[in-house]
Amino acid sequence: MAEPEFFESSPWIAGGVVRQPALAGAVTADVVIVGGGFTGLSTALCLREAGVDVAIVERDHCGFGASGRNAGHLTPTIGKDFPTLVKYVGKDRAVEYARFADRAVHYTEAMITRLGVDCEYRPTGNIITGLHPRHRKPLADSAELAASLGVGVAFLDEAEVRRRNLPSHVRFGVIEQSGGHLHPGKYVLALRQAALDAGVRIFEDSAVTAIEDTASPIVVRTAAGHVTAEKLVVATNAYTPATLGQMKSKVFPVRVTLFRTAPLTPAQWDRIGWQGREALYTAHEAMENYRPQADGRISGGSKWVQYGFGSTLTTGHLPKVFAQWRKLFALRFPELPDVGIESFWGGWIGLTLDFLPLHGSNARGTVFHGLGYNGHGIAQATYAGPMLADQVLGRSNAEVELFQRRLFPLPPEPLRWLVIKGITATLDRVDNRVDADLARGTV
Ligand SMILES: Cc1cc2nc3c(=O)[nH]c(=O)nc-3n(C[C@H](O)[C@H](O)[C@H](O)COP(=O)(O)OP(=O)(O)OC[C@H]3O[C@@H](n4cnc5c(N)ncnc54)[C@H](O)[C@@H]3O)c2cc1C
Repeated sequence: MAEPEFFESSPWIAGGVVRQPALAGAVTADVVIVGGGFTGLSTALCLREAGVDVAIVERDHCGFGASGRNAGHLTPTIGKDFPTLVKYVGKDRAVEYARFADRAVHYTEAMITRLGVDCEYRPTGNIITGLHPRHRKPLADSAELAASLGVGVAFLDEAEVRRRNLPSHVRFGVIEQSGGHLHPGKYVLALRQAALDAGVRIFEDSAVTAIEDTASPIVVRTAAGHVTAEKLVVATNAYTPATLGQMKSKVFPVRVTLFRTAPLTPAQWDRIGWQGREALYTAHEAMENYRPQADGRISGGSKWVQYGFGSTLTTGHLPKVFAQWRKLFALRFPELPDVGIESFWGGWIGLTLDFLPLHGSNARGTVFHGLGYNGHGIAQATYAGPMLADQVLGRSNAEVELFQRRLFPLPPEPLRWLVIKGITATLDRVDNRVDADLARGTV
C-alpha cells in the first residue's frame, strides 16, 4: 500500500478557501473577535442579528483550527464521562451539564438546518463501544446512572450490537441518542459564508500579535493593522496560550491525530455491515473514534495525544503515531485486510483540568472568552455563540452562569508538563492492559 499522505491542516478543507483580505491600517468595529472557528463565527452571527458591527481577525483562514480539522462527532458528551462528572459536581449539577450539552447539540442541528447546506449530517447518535469485558461494568453503570437521571442514553447489549451489525470489534455499548456525525469542513465553511453574507467583516491571514484591553476602547493589533472596538471576544481556544499568551493556567493544548481510509467498495461495506452508519467511540480511557463518511471512507483517530512543553503547538507529523494507527486499524477492522489508511492529519484540542468549558469575562465587562471544550466543541463551541453574544450585549444568560466555578490553576512549567505526562501515562497504562488482551485474543 502507498505511504499515507499527511495534511498540515486537514482533508476537510483540502482545496483551501479564497481568503478574505488581511487586516491593513486602522479599522473600527463595535466588537472585535479574535479567531474564526465555530466559537468566533457563531458569536459573530448572533451579534449581527442584533445589529452589531463585528470584525473577525483570523490568523489563517476561518476553519483552519480545530473547527476545520475535527473528527465530526456531534455529541452531547460533557466532562470526562458521566460518572466522573457526578463524582465531581454532584448529581444535580451533572444533570444540568448533561442537559446543557444536549441543548448545544440541538442548537447545532438547528444551525445546520438554518445554514441550508449539506454538511453530510447523519443523526445516528454516538455509540460508546465496549471492546473488552473490563469495559462492561463502567459502561453499564454509567448508562444506568445517566438513564435514571433522565439523560438520553441506553445500554446496547450483545444482541442489540449484533442486530445493528456493528463492526466486529464492538461487543456492547452505550448510545448517546442525540447528535450524530458530519463533515466538519463543509459545516465550518458554511458558517463562514453565513457570517460574510450577514455582513461580518472577516480579516484572514491576520495573526493578532498584541491586545490592548486595559482601557477603552480596546485595540487588537496585527503586523499590518489594528482594530479598535468597544468589546473583544477571545475565540482562539487551544491556541490561546501559545499565540496570545493568555489563559495559560486554565487551558492547555494537546495534539490529536486523525486518519481516513481510502473509499471502501460496496463489497467491503457488505463485509463490515454497520448499516446504520453510526458514529463510534471506544470506552478506552483515551478513546478511539471511528465514523463512516458519506464518500465511503472510514475516518477515525484520537487515543495517542501529545502535549508540548510550555503549551507550545507541537508538530503534527508523527511517523511513530501513524505507524501505531496503521497497526491498530488492522486490529480493530479485521474485516478489512485490504483497506489501508490513506491520510493523516490532526489538530490541537483545548483541555481544562475539570473537562468543562470556560466562559467568562474581565471585571469591566469588555473582554469575553469561550473556550476549553475538551474535544466536544462542534456542539459546545457553536452554542458558545449565543452565550458570548448575550454577554457582549449585556444580557444575562443562564448557560454562562452554569460554568461559573472556582478552578484549580494548572501549575507552571515544568510541573505542568510532569502532571500532564503523568495523567496521560496513567490512562495509557489502563488502556494498554485492555489492548494487550485484545491483541492476544485472550478475551
Ligand atoms: C483532531 C481533533 C478532533 C476533534 N474531534 C471532535 C469531535 O469529533 N467532536 C467534537 O465535538 N469536537 C471535536 N474536536 C474539538 C472541536 O473541533 C473544537 O472544540 C472546536 O472546533 C473549537 O472551536 P473554536 O472556534 O473555539 O476553536 P478553533 O476552531 O481552533 O478556532 C480558533 C481559531 O483561532 C485562530 N487563531 C489562533 N491564534 C490566533 C491569533 N493570534 N490571531 C488570530 N487568530 C488566531 C486559529 O487559526 C483558529 O482558526 C476535535 C478537535 C480536534 C483538534
